Amino acid sequence: MKIIFLGVGEASDENIPNNSQLIITEKTKMLLDCGFTVPWQIWKFNSAPNFLDVIYVSHQHADHFFGLPILLLRMWEDGRERDLTIICQKGLKESFLDFMEYAYKGFMDKFKYKINLIESKEGEIIEFSDLKLSFEKTVHSGENLAVKITDGKNIVAYSGDGAPLVNTNFYKDLDLLTLETYLYDEEKIGHSSIVSAIAFAENNNVKCLALSHINRDLRKNDLSKIRDKIKNDKIKIIIPEPMDGCDL
Ligand SMILES: [Zn+2]
Ligand SMILES: [Zn+2]
Repeated sequence: MKIIFLGVGEASDENIPNNSQLIITEKTKMLLDCGFTVPWQIWKFNSAPNFLDVIYVSHQHADHFFGLPILLLRMWEDGRERDLTIICQKGLKESFLDFMEYAYKGFMDKFKYKINLIESKEGEIIEFSDLKLSFEKTVHSGENLAVKITDGKNIVAYSGDGAPLVNTNFYKDLDLLTLETYLYDEEKIGHSSIVSAIAFAENNNVKCLALSHINRDLRKNDLSKIRDKIKNDKIKIIIPEPMDGCDL
């Protein structure tokens, strides 16, 4: 399994694209979240219209799904004919056509490819190609579902936004956990801090922790200091830059 950190930024960081990753396995190319600054990152990585098989949207905040209309529009413009699957919560599934219509009125009727919408639910498993996905709520200002993904060889999880629930086995023994963190050691409601994320990953025997969605000022002014402070001999901790890759 290969991970590409397309974006690692919070909603309004002018330097860093929104939090988003590609999960690439033998059979599948999956996009996790598609905020308003993410499509450019995808096209820079691979602009082929058939590149993606499936998209996961963690929650309905614009920095996690407002990139979808133009991403889907360009797939049509560039000749996509293969079905695309979008996995998302009930609210977006039900309002998806209105959302697309509001963004680019009348365009979806012209698409030559079909979009299959599948609803993600806490406690349920979705199988797609060689991937098995499961979901768990986080503590966030919107209903967010973290996703755990395995291809039978590796297990990774991506929190979307929000602090993970603490009394759960969902995140145990992961090869890679990407956690949304906002400030260094201050808990802001609806977000993890870097310090609490590290303690959480240690307690869950996670091999590698990736910290993303870091507050724009913290990232701009203090990143090198933070990199020094988070050195850890129990687990590998990374603060990826946009487009960094990670082979598991
Ligand atoms: Zn959010
Ligand atoms: Zn966000």
